Amino acid sequence: MTTQLYIDGAFVAPKAGGSFPAVDPATEEVFDTVAAGTADDIDAAVRAARTAFDDGRWSGLSASARAGFLRKVAEGIRARLSDLAALETRDNGKPLPEAEWDIGDAADCFDYYADLAEARAAGPETTVDVGDERFDTRIWREPVGVVAAITPWNFPLLMGVWKVAPALAAGCTIVLKPSELCSLTCHELARIVDAAGLPAGVFNLVTGTGPEAGAPLTDHPLVDKIAFTGSVVTGRKVMQAASAGIRTVALELGGKSPFIVFADSDVDKAVEWILFGIFWNKGEVCSATSRVLVQRELYPRLLERLAEEAEKITIGPGDAEGVKLGPIVSCSQYDKVMGFLERARQSGARLVTGGGRPEGLDTGYYLTPTVYADVPLDAEIWREEIFGPVVCVNSFETEDEALRLANDSPYGLAGAVMSKDLDRCDRVAARLRAGIVWINCSQPTFTQAPWGGYKSSGIGRELGEAGFDNYLETKQVTRFDRDGEWGWYLPTGDQA
Ligand code: NDP
Repeated sequence: MTTQLYIDGAFVAPKAGGSFPAVDPATEEVFDTVAAGTADDIDAAVRAARTAFDDGRWSGLSASARAGFLRKVAEGIRARLSDLAALETRDNGKPLPEAEWDIGDAADCFDYYADLAEARAAGPETTVDVGDERFDTRIWREPVGVVAAITPWNFPLLMGVWKVAPALAAGCTIVLKPSELCSLTCHELARIVDAAGLPAGVFNLVTGTGPEAGAPLTDHPLVDKIAFTGSVVTGRKVMQAASAGIRTVALELGGKSPFIVFADSDVDKAVEWILFGIFWNKGEVCSATSRVLVQRELYPRLLERLAEEAEKITIGPGDAEGVKLGPIVSCSQYDKVMGFLERARQSGARLVTGGGRPEGLDTGYYLTPTVYADVPLDAEIWREEIFGPVVCVNSFETEDEALRLANDSPYGLAGAVMSKDLDRCDRVAARLRAGIVWINCSQPTFTQAPWGGYKSSGIGRELGEAGFDNYLETKQVTRFDRDGEWGWYLPTGDQA
């Protein structure tokens, strides 16, 4: 049965009646059909969100009333954790335990922003000393308005929730457009929101393609803010669309994040975190540490251990027992990754392991965990985001050289450093031009801590308090002392 759109508190078919298939990347079989919304549906959804914002049915509620709804959504997600995780695995291919983390994190994210909305509302009003006692100046934070949220396929539900939970907590209304490749868990989120009884129009879901649903959403004049996660190429288009209406925009884009391993590191710990940094979620992770820099003395030993362990990773359908690497999300992404590997052959990089289809898995978009070493610094695989289970390793001699190589990228989302010398780790962390730095680990992500990139990796921060501030406007309210005198045009006191 085809899914529906969720607009103004009702599940509806797309006006143009279109749909597209949901394909299981482990079997290449179509297992569901998704509603394809177009510009007319986007218009209806944005208008519903606009009305719901402007009449105060959501922003006019107390923070604790909004928090109550958010907690119901969290409960609704938790109550369905196993079926949502199974659906995420089927749609995206990720191993089931990883999908379970994602769904659990999505529920926690709603709870976190419910608590934060209440804590902020209970906090003291902010005032500023403007240096003139006749003026009393206060700073108010208000919801930004109607939010357009556009998300990718790698963490289909979670990337939506990173936007929906703080936006709703802040008092905004929202239209969510997930990736056409993985829309199903966001459709289930609409069911959960509906069951939680949020007022109509506060949360709207329009599934559809980028050109037919995403672009009209970014162009819509009634949208106040665009929150986008995806590639740099699309991010640029989104920013252009936002500029036409002078709308604020938050961009969470790609990365090519470095992992610097110093020679004093324990080789097995380094291997564990390098593997996690690139093969978790099949390497379809914006912050994946896909460029590894190893200090010369450790380089040969580390490469040997890395290859040994990468070859032991269990590959297969995400719902099979013990699988740590599922299929790439889609045929088109598989072809894109294979294109990178094809061109890497001419680059001079040394293929250490992987690079092909795993034995016995003839159906499904599978690729063996792939490690390249001695990668030329101008090679495409060293510079461009592959977004698949492919890691490039090079060596360095000194801390300065490691930092120079690490920062030599247009991206700046994340970075990692490993060493027993914690002073050195802090020094390196300070000099990495990235929004997230991990010391002696790679990838752990916390709802409470800000997330986002430097340079081409984006603008703004999600998660934590910064993620809440993303959806607030700042208003200055200045009051003149009732008995005070100004006297610019009308004479006062002795001059009168
Ligand atoms: P895309 O940029 O291709 O797509 C992202 C979203 O934008 C999708 O919903 C897509 O629709 C939509 N879209 C496509 N064209 C337009 C358009 N013209 N106007 C508006 N919306 C449009 O990215 P992917 O889905 O391929 O995701 C992978 C990328 O996301 C990687 O580069 C990755 O690094 C980045 N990412 C960044 C994260 C971060 O936190 N920094 C987190 C996760 C991913 P559709 O695909 O349905 O057609």
